[in-house]
Amino acid sequence: MSFNVAIDGPAGAGKSTVARAVARQLEMIYVDTGAMYRAMALYMLREKVALEDVEGIVEKCQHADISIRYENGAQVVLLNGENVNPFLRTEEVGNAASVVSPIAEVREKMKRLQKELAAKNDCVMDGRDIGTCVLPKAQLKIYLTASSQVRAERRYLELAAKGEQGDIAKIRADIEERDYRDMHRENSPLTQAEDAIFLDTSHITAEEAVEAILKLCRERRG
Ligand code: C5P
Repeated sequence: MSFNVAIDGPAGAGKSTVARAVARQLEMIYVDTGAMYRAMALYMLREKVALEDVEGIVEKCQHADISIRYENGAQVVLLNGENVNPFLRTEEVGNAASVVSPIAEVREKMKRLQKELAAKNDCVMDGRDIGTCVLPKAQLKIYLTASSQVRAERRYLELAAKGEQGDIAKIRADIEERDYRDMHRENSPLTQAEDAIFLDTSHITAEEAVEAILKLCRERRG
């Protein structure tokens, strides 16, 4: 049976940095499920489907074939055969992802793919509903979070590193709006699984979070 680690939490808590590092250390694959929802959102934006048009999204999502490939250990998301990694990490696509992700048909499609990946591979998977819905039997579940101010500051620094100008107050407002949507949707809302370990990264470094999770993995894996 494969060994699965589920890491859930709000946007900007450091999930992908931490999950990627844990996966590398344990020689497991890292599955970034947010990137799959982002690819679906990118498809809708490109096809000019209005984000409030739920029926349009349900119809269009049948034509978006999303799959994952690994190149030198890094996840590549394919949208109808095209590597869309370079287009996924913008604020526009992230916000659009949180609008299309509550739709049941979209979630079913993504969930199927994620379960298949986890059944075949030892993996660290991050997202919003991994411990609660996608991998309820994961051997280790972590709920990773940080205050919205700290998360906004991190996003600001990420943008600055790319030479982009950000406004912390606006980033924080967007983060809080996205959290609200992710936590209050009817379908698979973001919530801590009962058996998940709560880890607040507001005042610890990513390295410290990675160490804490590695220790838990070693204990659980035996
Ligand atoms: O984690 P990331 O910011 O890339 O996720 C983008 C959006 O995709 C989230 O705000 C959330 O709405 C959605 N998502 C989800 N379920 C997941 C992963 C992401 O609904 N497992």
